[in-house]
Amino acid sequence: EAKSSGRNCYRFFHTSMLEKLEAKKLVISDLRQALKNDELELFYQPIYNIETRKIDKAEALIRWHHPEKGVISPQDFIPIAEENGLIVELGNWVLQNAIANVQAFRQSLCPNFCVNINVSAAQLKPEDNWIPEFIRILDDANLGANAIAIEITETALMTDRKKVVEDLRLLKEKGVEIAIDDFGVGYSSLSYLQQLKIDIIKIDKSFVQQLGIDSAGTTLCNTIVQMAKNLNIKVVAEGIEDEAQLQMLTEFGCHFGQGYFIAKPAQAKKFETFFHAFKPAHIASKTALKGEV
Ligand code: C2E
Ligand code: MG
Ligand code: MG
Ligand code: MG
Repeated sequence: EAKSSGRNCYRFFHTSMLEKLEAKKLVISDLRQALKNDELELFYQPIYNIETRKIDKAEALIRWHHPEKGVISPQDFIPIAEENGLIVELGNWVLQNAIANVQAFRQSLCPNFCVNINVSAAQLKPEDNWIPEFIRILDDANLGANAIAIEITETALMTDRKKVVEDLRLLKEKGVEIAIDDFGVGYSSLSYLQQLKIDIIKIDKSFVQQLGIDSAGTTLCNTIVQMAKNLNIKVVAEGIEDEAQLQMLTEFGCHFGQGYFIAKPAQAKKFETFFHAFKPAHIASKTALKGEV
């Protein structure tokens, strides 16, 4: 369209690109401030163990309390931090805070509690050597095994496969489980499941939302669960929003469920309150805490 409608349009396009660039620069400088000024916070969303009907895991999801703009969603700043490289510093912040929180959760909630953190492909770039740093931070914290697990997407496995295999092996030696996030929507081949000895698959919410609505989508969910079980991999279904979805996943034999139907992500303290009040019956009777607070 820019081409066909001539020069003015081109100029407009050009300006808007510049504006985007400026906006990104602003996000980055604001984000550096945020790291200094304590504007970031990890929210926690429970991962419900369908088999034991207990909660012994949660996913840490970053939130940014911007002094002027209010709460900013990770979707609006993580990709920019990834592009810029600030994601490495941000990732260390996430790890350090997740460690502090999991230590508290292990004392107040349950002794083998595990926190999943999200790790971007950009953090795994071989030249940044982030994994050794990750391991050093973890060692310093002196946690027991399986306190922290990482969630990576299939895209993260598409770069330097050999290096990633080696890095992930080191992490696994430290008792860090590896989960594949948003499983089924990436472009990777399935061979990595075997090669990397993946522990957990998280079925993307776009599949879960088709349960009972679209028969092919329903079959895909079931098939992912069966494949994972046959490979001895645990499955988490993401984005469960209603009882019918949880019911079907339970029938398929899915191990874990996560989603607004169980609880929305919440501040660490609210999450602890939720945990203490939680009874499996809450899920069936829909009285679980659902507000993101
Ligand atoms: P993700 O890791 O796949 O996280 C799941 C997202 O789905 C979260 O969005 C969560 O709030 C949302 N969600 C959970 N249950 C439901 C549900 O029942 N229905 C719907 N519609 N959504 C649900 P959030 O917190 O906005 O995070 C978005 C993405 O940002 C994450 O996707 C992850 O890729 C990234 N992210 C979040 N925190 C971090 C972080 O600390 N580091 C990095 N590198 N990425 C992060
Ligand atoms: Mg995740
Ligand atoms: Mg996901
Ligand atoms: Mg995602």
